[in-house]
Amino acid sequence: MSITVINPATGASCDTVKAVSPEELNAVVERAARAFIGWKTDLAARRSALLACAEKMRANVHMLARLVTQEQGKPLPKAEREVMGAARWFEYTAGLEIPVEVIHDDAAIRAEVHRKPFGVVGAITPWNYPVMIAAWKIAPALLAGNTVVLKPSPFTPLATIALGDLLKPLLPEDVLTVVPGGDDIGVALTAHAAIRKISFTGSTAAGQSIARTTAGQLKRLTLELGGNDAAIVLPDANIDAITEKLFWAAFDNSGQICAAVKRVYVHESQHDRLVEALAARLDAAIVGDGLEQGVELGPLTNKPQFERVVALVEDARARGGEIVAGGSKIDGPGYFFRPTLVTGLADDARLVAEEQFGPALPVLSYRDEDEVIARANDTNFGLSGSVWGTPERAAEIGEHLQCGTLWINQHMTILPHAPLAGTKLSGVGVENGPWGLAAYSEIRTVNIAH
Ligand code: NAD
Repeated sequence: MSITVINPATGASCDTVKAVSPEELNAVVERAARAFIGWKTDLAARRSALLACAEKMRANVHMLARLVTQEQGKPLPKAEREVMGAARWFEYTAGLEIPVEVIHDDAAIRAEVHRKPFGVVGAITPWNYPVMIAAWKIAPALLAGNTVVLKPSPFTPLATIALGDLLKPLLPEDVLTVVPGGDDIGVALTAHAAIRKISFTGSTAAGQSIARTTAGQLKRLTLELGGNDAAIVLPDANIDAITEKLFWAAFDNSGQICAAVKRVYVHESQHDRLVEALAARLDAAIVGDGLEQGVELGPLTNKPQFERVVALVEDARARGGEIVAGGSKIDGPGYFFRPTLVTGLADDARLVAEEQFGPALPVLSYRDEDEVIARANDTNFGLSGSVWGTPERAAEIGEHLQCGTLWINQHMTILPHAPLAGTKLSGVGVENGPWGLAAYSEIRTVNIAH
């Protein structure tokens, strides 16, 4: 079967790739299992290999970034930042320790805690940051001593295939294999008996499906899933100072970020000012083909996502929401939607209650702190959240938010050494930092009698 890759800025095909068959996938996993035997033995060699990979990625940033923009839509400078960020993740991970901890040592026994890799790790990525999210999985899995079989999204396989081709000569054969394919290949990968660890980033529905598929084998899972992040703007927030930051926190990558701001709750005393300032910023946003210079926001990445955003905004309109900026698709080819701001919605409107994953933001007014905390937490998601205002007061309120990451006067600062973990239906397990690395190994206790 072949996959046609669409450039979302034009709606036209930009390439076709051959999907692997289930039989080919089996053969890839078998080879990866054999490669594991040698790969797991030499940590120093793995560190050097990761550093060489980072260098290669940096040297090929323009080629990789162009592919990302063509298949995913983000502006080229942002795609370059994605690739450079991915290289940074490789470099950071290369420097992490895999310690042996001595937990007991006396005349009778010495007990140590070791970390053992799983073997073949199955990695599955979404379409919003194809290179970055692949790096978050490949680098720690490899450093821990595993081999990796990675399946990219069928919407954005090109940059990931190119990445695999670039890194191949720097790694022993079959240590890293990219397997293009649809959701069915994702299911086959997660069901494969030789794979004991799955690292997945994508929708909550697919994460739940993976949990069901793998339950019988009790596979170890890292699931980074959806979010519906709330940003709470306090009465003492400086609207002029935060408007630009809030704009990017909600609309970067055209809102297609798990940890983007997806709902803004602003105190009633500041509501009109914030709405006016944000609407002006949205109206001024430069939307277009990411390959053109100066473009700030690209298209939605694919047709289903575009249609979903159209439907959510239509629903908001039907529910009596006021569209204060945007609100419509942009005529012409490609999946372009104007950055949109909606006010006056009830909390159960779809645009508020569901993850929109697109450039349409609801702004909601609140009166008191207990009320806003309850409304922000009234969701099955729990990825991240932010509070904007005097830092001390903002931190006090943030303390009550149910989420894996809390930001104060910012949103979406993601660092290689900061763990990223969703609570509730936003995920299982952790990525990044030593916590993320630990998820690619199992503990073995070694207890020695003297
Ligand atoms: P998706 O779940 O549709 O697809 C993600 C990947 O999983 C694709 O490669 C797909 O082919 C594969 N897949 C789909 N169903 C599967 C199944 N049953 N078994 C195995 N594999 C399967 O998600 P998407 O539309 O590509 O990405 C958007 C979603 O990802 C959003 O919900 C977003 O919030 C989430 N996301 C989360 C994070 C995070 O770190 N928490 C980061 C980025 C995106």
